[in-house]
Amino acid sequence: MKALAAHRLQADMPDLKSVLARRVTVLGSTGSIGVSTLDVIDHARQHYGADALPVEALTAQSNVGALAAQARKVQPKIAVIGDEKLYLQLKDALSGTGIEVAAGRGAVIAAAARPSEVVMVAIMGAAALEPALAAVARGATVALANKECVVAAGTVFHRAVVKSNAAVIPVDSEHNAIFQVFRAADVDEVERVTLTASGGPFRDWTRERMRLATPEQAVAHPNWSMGAKISVDSATLMNKGLELIEAHFLFALPPEKLAAVVHPQSIVHCLVSYADGSTLAHLSAPDMRTPIAHALAWPRRISSPSRRLDLPAAAQLTFQEPDHRRFRCLGLALDCLNRGGLAPTILNAANEIAVAAFLNRQIGFLDIPRVVETTLDESAGANVEAESLDGVLAADARARELAGNVCRRMMT
Ligand code: NAD
Ligand code: MG
Repeated sequence: MKALAAHRLQADMPDLKSVLARRVTVLGSTGSIGVSTLDVIDHARQHYGADALPVEALTAQSNVGALAAQARKVQPKIAVIGDEKLYLQLKDALSGTGIEVAAGRGAVIAAAARPSEVVMVAIMGAAALEPALAAVARGATVALANKECVVAAGTVFHRAVVKSNAAVIPVDSEHNAIFQVFRAADVDEVERVTLTASGGPFRDWTRERMRLATPEQAVAHPNWSMGAKISVDSATLMNKGLELIEAHFLFALPPEKLAAVVHPQSIVHCLVSYADGSTLAHLSAPDMRTPIAHALAWPRRISSPSRRLDLPAAAQLTFQEPDHRRFRCLGLALDCLNRGGLAPTILNAANEIAVAAFLNRQIGFLDIPRVVETTLDESAGANVEAESLDGVLAADARARELAGNVCRRMMT
């Protein structure tokens, strides 16, 4: 299998003018990554001129106020709200602006299909899969922040990318870092790719303490400010598990060449070790605007508003093995990576349901791995490979239902 991310990697170097003329679509513009993306665009307009990085479309699920304010500022051709019931509210908020308005799941997918050079996929969860594939299908450059769609549908996603010759540029910080420090052509010479993990807010907590952890404590990440779901994933280390699966698909790396190490300062984002004993690393301050700017301008580089690295201020870079006993999600994800087939799809769906139940205070923090493990145990046909998008979506829906039942059993 060839690398998903490296497809079309030998790109010609465009001039800066054509990079800045790229039209950008932001799917999930009101979330953490979406807001950071608009910040990078705003900075580029101040730095290079007001017509830099024109915006084709913005989409959000339900926050009409934030979406309308963003649209008034960046002037997209169209603004789309996922929740159909909010159409009139958005139309009202943008009346007189000349910005087209649409609503509903189909309109979000259609926004991704509109002509733009770059599509930032910043929707949370496997809900990003169909919009991302709509961008892939027309051969766009897909700046991929979302990881769940690659975990849920790696093979199907890969096939679509090969067919359309789309360019997938990873935005997840570790994968963007890997993308920057090695060429996919080097895979045979690579001995190991190590992703770093901050360890999350519960890095030093005992299991007894974690049992009583609240959603507020779980989303209070020490280094990164992110959406609620990925923050909980960072606290359980499921995030790193999902990322190892993501790296497997993005870079065609076999599981045995992938590793994770805890690095509490979040300054080194990846380490790529070669056959001759060399290890190359990528360093930056923990600020998503750096990989976002890289993805928007790739293969060039543009000025970004991100925090700069200050090594004397950081003083120390430390590393330790992840503790699988306290963080069981990491092992569950590694099992699914090794099993292949639909196991990662089921893992991701069950995790999305379990995290939502935890955030709703229906289950405890340590119930998250229990829900995921029980769902995997109760799922039939996990080892089968899904041949089509429909197969993936059906497995995803089945796993969500099963995981919902498991959560309900735990609540009683
Ligand atoms: P978020 O929750 O802050 O924002 C999610 C965005 O998606 C919002 O704009 C929301 O309106 C939209 N959305 C939610 N559900 C939707 C649906 N069903 N259909 C259409 N749109 C929907 O999330 P985030 O932290 O910005 O993360 C987005 C993605 O990027 C996730 O897959 C996450 O794993 C990944 N990621 C985030 C970070 C980070 O620093 N936040 C880092 C690496 C990767
Ligand atoms: Mg990451």
